[in-house]
Amino acid sequence: MAATTFLTEQSRATSSRQNGGERLLRTLQHYWGYESFRPSQQEIVESIIAGRDACVVMPTGGGKSLCYQMPAVLDEKRTAVVVSPLIALMQDQVAQLEQMGIPAGFLNSSLSSEERSEILKRACQGAYRLLYVSPERIALNGTSDWLRRVPVSFFAIDEAHCISEWGHDFRPEYRQLNRLRELFPSQPIAAFTASATRRVRQDIVEQLRLREPLKHVASFRRPNLRYVVRQCNASTQMTMLLESVRRMGDGNIIVYAPTIARVGETVDFLEENGIRAIAYHGQMDARARRENQEKWMADEVRVMVGTIAFGLGIHKSSVRAVIHLALPKSVEQYYQEAGRAGRDGKPADCFLFWQKKDAGLHAYFIGQIADAAERERAWQRYREVESFVNARECRQRYLCQHFGESPKWEKCDGCDVCAGIPDWIEAVTQSLKRGKPASIADGRRKPVTTGSANTTAADEPNLELKEYMREWRRNVSRQKGIAAFIIMHDTTLERLCSAVPSSLSELRRVPGFGEKKTEMYGNEILAALERFRNGERARPDSTVGHPGPAEETLRLLGDRRTFEEIAQIRNRKLSSVISLVAEMVERGELDFQPEWLATEVFDQIASACQRCGTERLKPIKEALPEKITYEQIRLVAAQMKRASPALLG
Ligand code: ADP
Repeated sequence: MAATTFLTEQSRATSSRQNGGERLLRTLQHYWGYESFRPSQQEIVESIIAGRDACVVMPTGGGKSLCYQMPAVLDEKRTAVVVSPLIALMQDQVAQLEQMGIPAGFLNSSLSSEERSEILKRACQGAYRLLYVSPERIALNGTSDWLRRVPVSFFAIDEAHCISEWGHDFRPEYRQLNRLRELFPSQPIAAFTASATRRVRQDIVEQLRLREPLKHVASFRRPNLRYVVRQCNASTQMTMLLESVRRMGDGNIIVYAPTIARVGETVDFLEENGIRAIAYHGQMDARARRENQEKWMADEVRVMVGTIAFGLGIHKSSVRAVIHLALPKSVEQYYQEAGRAGRDGKPADCFLFWQKKDAGLHAYFIGQIADAAERERAWQRYREVESFVNARECRQRYLCQHFGESPKWEKCDGCDVCAGIPDWIEAVTQSLKRGKPASIADGRRKPVTTGSANTTAADEPNLELKEYMREWRRNVSRQKGIAAFIIMHDTTLERLCSAVPSSLSELRRVPGFGEKKTEMYGNEILAALERFRNGERARPDSTVGHPGPAEETLRLLGDRRTFEEIAQIRNRKLSSVISLVAEMVERGELDFQPEWLATEVFDQIASACQRCGTERLKPIKEALPEKITYEQIRLVAAQMKRASPALLG
C-alpha cells in the first residue's frame, strides 16, 4: 500500500517536473503573487510532492509555510494536515489562506461542538487543501477514526522542536505525534522548525519515525541582524532601552521582559518618556491580549513589551529591533526571539541588555522544576547562555556553531564583538558615568510614532505614503474584522508603496498580490493611491491625547479610587503605583492627600525622616515599628523632600 502511494506520488511529481517546474511557478504567482522561490523552497516542495518525509530547519522568516502549503494546494483532491501548537496561529494562517483563495480549516478547542462537526464533515469530503489541528487533538482517543475518513495527502508538523525534551520548548502533547506513523503508515510526514540543535533534530526524526527524510538545514546566520550584547545595571539598562527605542525610525519593536511585573513597569517607563507601548503577558485575559497584539500588528502602537508568551506565531516582517531586558533561558530561545526581528531581510537590531542579577531569577525558576533530569537540562541551557554572553567571538558565528553548523567565515562585521559596541551605547555609558541624566541628545535620534507628524518625510521618500496605506489597512481591518497583516503583509505594503501602481495589471506585478488579493482589494487600493496623489494624508498621530501612566493615575485618584483599586485597574503592582504617586508628589505635580495616612502615622514617619534623612529608606524603616510599610514611608518621604528639599536632600 505504502509503495503504491509512493509510486503514484512520484509519477505525479515527475510529470510536474516535465512541465519544467512551470506549474509550481504558476501556482506561486497565482496564489501568492511571488515571482520566484526562495533558496531551497522548490526542492522541499518537490520532495514532499514526491511522497518523501522531510525534516526542515529554516530560520524565522525563511519561508517555511510555503514549503508545505504549496504541495497541499497542488494536491487538489486531498488534504494536508498541519499540526500547529497555537490556536491564534492556526486561525491566522487559515484566514490568510482563505484570502489567497485556498480552502482551509482548523480544528481546536476554541470551536463549539456544532462548528467542529461541520468542519469534520467538510474535511471528510475533502473540501480543504489544508486542515490545521492542535497536537492535543491528535492525541485524543477517536482521532484516528475520523482522521482516517479525511483524504490525507501528508502531515506537516510545525514547531517540531516542541517534540524534544532537549529542545527549549518541550510540549508533552507533541510526544503523542509519534502515533502518526503507526496510524498512517503511507502518508509522508514533514517536520519544520526554526531552531533545533543537532540533538533535537535527531530526536525529531526518531520520535516521528521519519523514513529517510529529506534533511534540510539552512544556515543559522541572519546577515541582516546585528546582535549587540551588553551587561548593564538597573539604571543603565533602562537608559539603553529608552535610547534604542528612540533611535528607531519606521518599524516595530519587541521588548522582552523577564517577569509580568517588569512588563508593566517597562510600559510605564516608556510611556512616561513619551513613547507609546503596550503589554502582552500570560496573565492578561485572552481578549485584551489579542487586542494588544492586533494594535501592534496594525502599527497603531509600535512598541510591544512582553514576556516570552509573546511572539510564537507572530508573523510581522518589519520588526526593526528585539530588545531583551534579561538573560533568556536558553540560546535557542534567544535565537528564536531575537530572530523575530528583520524577517523582511532589512537591517534590524537585537539588543541583549542583561544584568548580573538575572542569574538569581533563573536559579529561582530552575529550582521550581520538580524533575531532576529536566532541572539539570535547564541548568545546562542556562550555562550555555552565560557562555554566549561572555564569549569574545562573533555572535553570529557562535549561534551558528551552537546549532551544529561549521561556518567557513570568521566574522560578521556587524555584532558587538566584530564591529564594537555602537557609539551611542558607549555615549550613554559615558554620560551615566559622569552622572548626567538618562537621556543623551544627538541629532540622529528619531522618535517612534505612529503618525507622520514626528517623522520627516525627507528621511524616506515614501514614508508619508506608507503611513497613508497603513491607515487604509487599519480601516479595512476594522471594517472587516480581520487582522491587518492578513489583508496585506508589511513587506507587501512596502513593495506597494515603492511601486505605486496605477492599474490592476501593474498591481498584479507587486510581489504579494496574487489573483484573489488583487480581485478583493485592487480597486480600493488604486482609489486610495489616487487620493494620496490628490494630496490626502494619514491623520496626524493618533497617539496624541493618549493618557500616560501619570495622567491615568491622576484621573483615577481624582475619581477617589484607592491605591489598591488603581493597581488593579492598571494591572500594576501596588508598589509601582505608589512609587509613581510619590514621584509626582516630589515633583510637585500632585498634593499629598491627608486621607492617604492617619495623622499619627504621618507624624511618626516624618520625625524618623528628620532624624535619618530621606536619602535611603532602609534606615527609616528600621527606626520605625514593623507594621509601617515601605510604601507609607515612600509617600511621606516624597512629601518631606518637596517641602524642604535643601534640608533633607
Ligand atoms: P517562517 O515560517 O519560516 O518564519 P514564513 O513562512 O512566515 O517564514 O515566511 C516569511 C515571509 O516571507 C512571509 O512574509 C512570506 O510571505 C514571505 N515569503 C515566503 N516565500 C517567499 C517567496 N518565495 N517570495 C517572496 N516572499 C516569500
